[in-house]
Amino acid sequence: MKKSIVNLPDQKSAGRRNLKAIAEHLDFEMPQHLSDLGEGRSYYVRTYGCQANVRDGETISGLLEEMHFHPANSEEDADLLIFNTCAIRKAAEDHVLGEIGNLKPLKTKHPEKIFAVCGCMAQEEGIVRDLIEKYPQVDLVFGTHNLHELPELLEAVMKGERRIAVYSEEGKIIEGLPSRRIKPYKAFVNIMYGCDKFCTYCIVPYTRGKQRSRRMEDILREIRTFKEQGGREIQLLGQNVNAYGKDLGMEDGFTKLLEACAETGIDRIRFYTSHPRDYSITTIEAMQKYPSVMKSLHLPVQSGSDEVLRRMNRGYTSADYRHLVDEMKARIPDITFTTDLIVGFPGETDEQFQETLDLVDYCQFDSAFTFIFSAREGTPAAKFEDHLSQDVKKERLQMLNDRIGLYAKKNNDAYVGRTLKILCEGPSRKRTDVFSGYSEENKLVNFAGHDLKEGEIYDVLITGAKSYTLDGEAVSGHLENKEI
Ligand code: SF4
Repeated sequence: MKKSIVNLPDQKSAGRRNLKAIAEHLDFEMPQHLSDLGEGRSYYVRTYGCQANVRDGETISGLLEEMHFHPANSEEDADLLIFNTCAIRKAAEDHVLGEIGNLKPLKTKHPEKIFAVCGCMAQEEGIVRDLIEKYPQVDLVFGTHNLHELPELLEAVMKGERRIAVYSEEGKIIEGLPSRRIKPYKAFVNIMYGCDKFCTYCIVPYTRGKQRSRRMEDILREIRTFKEQGGREIQLLGQNVNAYGKDLGMEDGFTKLLEACAETGIDRIRFYTSHPRDYSITTIEAMQKYPSVMKSLHLPVQSGSDEVLRRMNRGYTSADYRHLVDEMKARIPDITFTTDLIVGFPGETDEQFQETLDLVDYCQFDSAFTFIFSAREGTPAAKFEDHLSQDVKKERLQMLNDRIGLYAKKNNDAYVGRTLKILCEGPSRKRTDVFSGYSEENKLVNFAGHDLKEGEIYDVLITGAKSYTLDGEAVSGHLENKEI
């Protein structure tokens, strides 16, 4: 299936195509004649949004460096500036458009600079059209399924073509793309792309397409290579990891993948994001069986009201969710939970919001990403009648955050005096006199120590707790791989 190319204003529309039932798997090869296209030029990728975007940013950097572009010291210095965008919320989208708008004077002063936009916003037809028609400073727009075409697209721009837009719903899976990982010891590993769930508020199935799983052997090869290069932690990424492999005809695919990942001997395995509807008991058993599968789970619930969940098309009830949490806590006593919650969904009553607070009281999450409902054009919920004022929504959000903060602090207090294993990520960003890193429970810990190395795992005694971070000190003599 061919891509959609728009070179406005000559062509009127960018077509969107249907997706093949099973994705084609192809291997990437850098065209020989493009391998030094970036010689002497610098690049900067500004990434917004979720881990999937961060991973795309790593791939874009890898592609550019294979073409001999080098990283710029700052956005202003870059010969090529790429905005890797997120479309999940309207406000965030407007913010990005504002930032792209601000580039106009820079482009006027330096017309030789190349400005490109990619990510989920580059998959929305209306946005793509606006970017090309109203933002003359933008040279290139390419969608989430078109990363592998970046070398040819840049060649076209550098030869003088301007205002190119390429995006498609095409479902190819491209293996062997180069990447430049942000941290050599911590890897995002895509296991699938897209989502089939069609929650009524969510734009992802429209921007990232239907679910396509990578082949298990390709995923494992990537993990083994990462481990051989000194990698410690992998984060398996997908919009709904529990459905991994269904499109390939696999039964219980995610559990099999999780077990195979654990058998590689990698130190730590996390996965994002889980869907309560597809969670299987065998996955819980794998979490129990393998110490390397971290006992922290991000399990979005979105609402505690059955009626709101029904209108969201989430496919489970509040009781189903509670049952799943109970089952996991019974089998894995130290497990920690985080979640996503939306307030002010169209039609949400006071009682229904109270049901969300009740669910928070029941589950006592360690933290939560909380959002006011954001209507995304093209999704069913954007057409639902929304009777709530912004003030009411903000009030509910505040109440919800306060409630979550209570449990976050209470849960964190319980770690004081315990020793946790922390993967050191170097000096803390806010306080350079201490190190920071994440525990197996996914707690962010700031800790004192001497001569500690980024990428190593240390035992850290927890000495203090805040709502969302812990303080501690590396325990002398308990360093995992060597003496402190
Ligand atoms: S599961 Fe629902 S919220 Fe998550 S990506 Fe899919 S459609 Fe969006």
